[in-house]
Amino acid sequence: MFVDIAKIRIKAGDGGNGAVSFHREKYVAAGGPDGGDGGRGGNIVFLADTNLSTLLDFQYKRRFIAQNGENGKAGRCTGKSAPDLVIRVPKGTLIKEAQTGRILADISADEPVVVAKGGKGGWGNSHFATATRQIPRFAKPGMPGEMFEITLELKLLADVGLVGFPNVGKSTLVSVISEAKPKIANYHFTTLTPVLGMVRMQEGKSFVVADIPGLIEGASEGVGLGHEFLRHVERCRLNVHVVDVSGSEGRNPEEDFAAINRELKNFHEELAARPQIVAGNKCDLASPEQVESFRRFVEEKGLPFFPISAATRQGVEPLVNAVAAMLDKLPPIRQYEPQPAPQPAETQGKQTFQIRVEDGVYIVEADWLMSALGMVDMEDYESLQYFQRVLIKSGIIEELERMGIREGDTVSILNFEFDYIK
Ligand code: GDP
Ligand code: MG
Repeated sequence: MFVDIAKIRIKAGDGGNGAVSFHREKYVAAGGPDGGDGGRGGNIVFLADTNLSTLLDFQYKRRFIAQNGENGKAGRCTGKSAPDLVIRVPKGTLIKEAQTGRILADISADEPVVVAKGGKGGWGNSHFATATRQIPRFAKPGMPGEMFEITLELKLLADVGLVGFPNVGKSTLVSVISEAKPKIANYHFTTLTPVLGMVRMQEGKSFVVADIPGLIEGASEGVGLGHEFLRHVERCRLNVHVVDVSGSEGRNPEEDFAAINRELKNFHEELAARPQIVAGNKCDLASPEQVESFRRFVEEKGLPFFPISAATRQGVEPLVNAVAAMLDKLPPIRQYEPQPAPQPAETQGKQTFQIRVEDGVYIVEADWLMSALGMVDMEDYESLQYFQRVLIKSGIIEELERMGIREGDTVSILNFEFDYIK
């Protein structure tokens, strides 16, 4: 079965917690803090696998959870980081956040891509000893691993997409120009799954053609077969529009041509605007007048026309050469860029908070800060800067200063403590 769309959940591992521990040794009364850091949670990584051609596996397994990092231990022992969880998908799989449709990754290159990051381990209490605080009885919890509900969408990687009505000879054409052997038969919709064929040129050049099931009118609105397959020609650089010029099934080639272009346009303007070469097939069955009249029709629209017979191979070579020459001038196969996440709370302006002083520690309480702090990685400079901006924008810094905070005083926010620095 060919499955080219799937919805799954992924969850990267949480970071291990930092440890609270104090050095103990015989005859040593009170040792210093020696709690180790938590280990990093496992990432969720996607890897293109050329042996896979469908997303069928994801119909059965829909949840992928990477392991958590180990907690830190006594003796400054860092917890073990968890291994990455690698998920293999067919080349050309697009990963989107299910809720928003935001593109997270395009798995079409050979390098693995981290889609959900594991949480960093929390610091153990050995990090928190200062001259004024020699017995830190706290450590940082590990950061949560990223979690997403995602859709996987296979968009095949092909240079050329064959489009046209069913039974016009697309599969026959693919079978004579490449080593691919799609099913060919004289009835509609013999091609039920997209087939990729590699076309090898003499000079060692090659390109990939996608044979997709034939389109029928209304396909772009989901009527009948074909609609769901249009996504597989979305990345193509060039469309070869195959038309039966002989009108062998009582069809009118000009109407067919217009109908398919309408379908492409309805699916995506971009698809219709893509460079197109028209192959008039079944010339062996057509009269010279039929061929010439269709040629005029196509050339008046400014498109290149090639009369062929896929069955007898007549005219196929000039068509292939023209396709290769055109590809040389076109940009490479489209890759989708990941889209950035919308910026969180930072811009929301002042929010409510409370500050009290206990034992010289300024304790800030604000529920909304939880989400902001949850995203902050204290070891990362940019992340810290972001957190500082949140503190400034929310008015917390202003209030601390009004309360008389001085350099070196301790601020505690949601159990995270840091020294105040102007
Ligand atoms: P598709 O549905 O567009 O993939 O069409 P197929 O490649 O499966 O071909 C449909 C039918 O048309 C088959 O019976 C083919 O043998 C026949 N056919 C394909 N190309 C030609 C051609 O150039 N000339 C003739 N006479 N028949 C062809
Ligand atoms: Mg076919």
